Amino acid sequence: MRNREDLETRELEELAPVAVKAARSKGRREAEPPDGLRTCFQRDRDRILHSTAFRRLQRKTQVLMSGSGDHFRTRLVHSLEVSQMARSASLALRLNPDLAEAVALAHDLGHPPFGHVGEERLQALMEGHGGFRHNGQVLRLVDILETRGCGGSGLNLCWETRICLLKKTLPKGFPLAPDLPPRAEPYLEGRIVDACDRIAYLSHDLDDALRSGIMHMEDFLDLPLCAEALEEAGKTGASRSPRGNGTPESDPGRKRMVSALVKLLLRDLVVSTARAFQSAHRLRDPEEARREGKRLVGHSRERSLGIEALFERLNREFYRAPRIRRPIEASAEVLNRLYRHFRDDPRTLPESFRRRIDEDGPDRCICDYLAGMTDDFIGKLAQEVLI
Ligand code: MG
Repeated sequence: MRNREDLETRELEELAPVAVKAARSKGRREAEPPDGLRTCFQRDRDRILHSTAFRRLQRKTQVLMSGSGDHFRTRLVHSLEVSQMARSASLALRLNPDLAEAVALAHDLGHPPFGHVGEERLQALMEGHGGFRHNGQVLRLVDILETRGCGGSGLNLCWETRICLLKKTLPKGFPLAPDLPPRAEPYLEGRIVDACDRIAYLSHDLDDALRSGIMHMEDFLDLPLCAEALEEAGKTGASRSPRGNGTPESDPGRKRMVSALVKLLLRDLVVSTARAFQSAHRLRDPEEARREGKRLVGHSRERSLGIEALFERLNREFYRAPRIRRPIEASAEVLNRLYRHFRDDPRTLPESFRRRIDEDGPDRCICDYLAGMTDDFIGKLAQEVLI
């Protein structure tokens, strides 16, 4: 049998000097006795996995409205895919796979209903009240809004996990727990999650764009990265005909091409990052690496350009396609209407949000409530209260 101490010792022996080690964690906001079997980051991962915010990801829009079809990605599936990639990349780079997994599973918890449209609506509504960003909302969830089995507010995650979740700058006045800086450089594990997030959403949005029939393989073949992925897929037996033999939905080439794309990008991320580690061998610990992280984790120049071009194509022709945006924009209107409804009488908020009004103000409490909702729940609530 292996206990926590054994796992911690193994990390100290096997992980790279720049990797975060559980035994050296800066700890939690509220001190807790360590677990007998799991390291602190394994415990963080489990707390995230068992949180209600995590389960709600299954009914939150990624790009296509949740409920568009059983095979399209929801945020839950996306988070699981990012976590698998981040774990594999971390293992290859001798970074901490448990920290990467915890961060990946939590990275999208703060997304409101209706994807980016929902985020834009809340940003506009919260202007002048500290603003809204999904990464800031993750911290509100894990530090304040979620409850854990033993009681207490927040999941009480480790400092390193929280710093990795903070990532981009937040609007001035966005309320974070007092021990967090307004901006911090993530550990390398956090940067790996960020890079895997991009690989996951680009490749899977490409898959969903083709599967939905909104775009076709021909729309991507002038992009060298996609042409190369199709070529690679051909080596494993995919049809070389751009459209395959059937509909986009049934095209076996599509699956192989997307899988080849993920492999190309993930391999490039690992190889380029490993090369950067070699030339930065003077870095002795994760804190030093954190300050240099931008330079250390990333893709080759060729792949970075390919990623940019693919994002541009998807952004122009898929994310912004009227068939995608229109139904989401129409549904997202309920965010504005419910916001006004609760602003007129904040006492109608559920007790768990109402009791924070003195501390956070009514606007923040309404925003927390709305941001946590799934696409389904907000629709039902609107039917009940907006008559
Ligand atoms: Mg994501």
